[in-house]
Amino acid sequence: MSRKSSGFVPTMGALHEGHLTLMRQARSENDIVIVSIFVNPTQFNDAVDLEKYPRTFERDCELLKNAQIDALFAPDADEIYPTPMDTIIDVPLLSKGLIGKLRPGHFQGMASVVTKLLNIAQADRAYFGEKDYQQLAIIKRMVFDLNIPSEIIGVPIVREADGLAMSSRNMRLSSKERAAAPIIYKTMERALNKHTLGETSVNALIEFITDEISAEPLATIKSIDIVDAENLQPMTIINRPAALLLNVQFGDVILIDQSII
Ligand code: AMP
Repeated sequence: MSRKSSGFVPTMGALHEGHLTLMRQARSENDIVIVSIFVNPTQFNDAVDLEKYPRTFERDCELLKNAQIDALFAPDADEIYPTPMDTIIDVPLLSKGLIGKLRPGHFQGMASVVTKLLNIAQADRAYFGEKDYQQLAIIKRMVFDLNIPSEIIGVPIVREADGLAMSSRNMRLSSKERAAAPIIYKTMERALNKHTLGETSVNALIEFITDEISAEPLATIKSIDIVDAENLQPMTIINRPAALLLNVQFGDVILIDQSII
């Protein structure tokens, strides 16, 4: 009998349609699908954010019953970190800017735990969302640099009907914040239109986005960047594939979104 292929979908739980889409893709491309749920403490630079991160394990298990997966790995923190790690995975060129600036240490914690999870799962393929664009770029680079034998597969963003990118954090928005949050997607679409009509200046596009989102009183812009889609380095004129990356805060929740230009 030939060897069975396996696909791995790491998550932090509070599952939604975005996660389920990753699982469906893994299901269609592999014989065996493994899912993990682990809220990794070392990637939270803010203790309050860690404490408030939604945990809905019973509901997640119900959703997984219909997701046609083969195994769920849901370890405790003690199981993943029997003692504090003395090894840190750092991908500094890709990690230091953008979200890395807003959340110091976040990407080291993420890269370290993803390395552990990939080593535990030993899967042929691992699936990650393009919503977390910088995260995906870091993981691809780390897997290449360290010869980790899993193929990393990026999956496009899954959105709510009104355009808001699905996120476990959305459930922490008040109803007013939830109603206001699609401004992120709407503004991104309008900026992409401007670019299609000929605007190639990064400054002009960022200024436009800043003005539009600032007009929403519940939104606080944390960062707006347009960077080279490959190496995430800053650019001034869009003359090659670029990534538009937004971090916008509503209440105490920071939402992220991205689009390729
Ligand atoms: P999280 O549980 O938020 O750490 O997400 C687990 C995986 O699901 C990550 O690879 C995310 O990028 C991915 N993911 C989360 N939300 C979405 C979404 N709306 N669309 C596609 N992938 C997503």
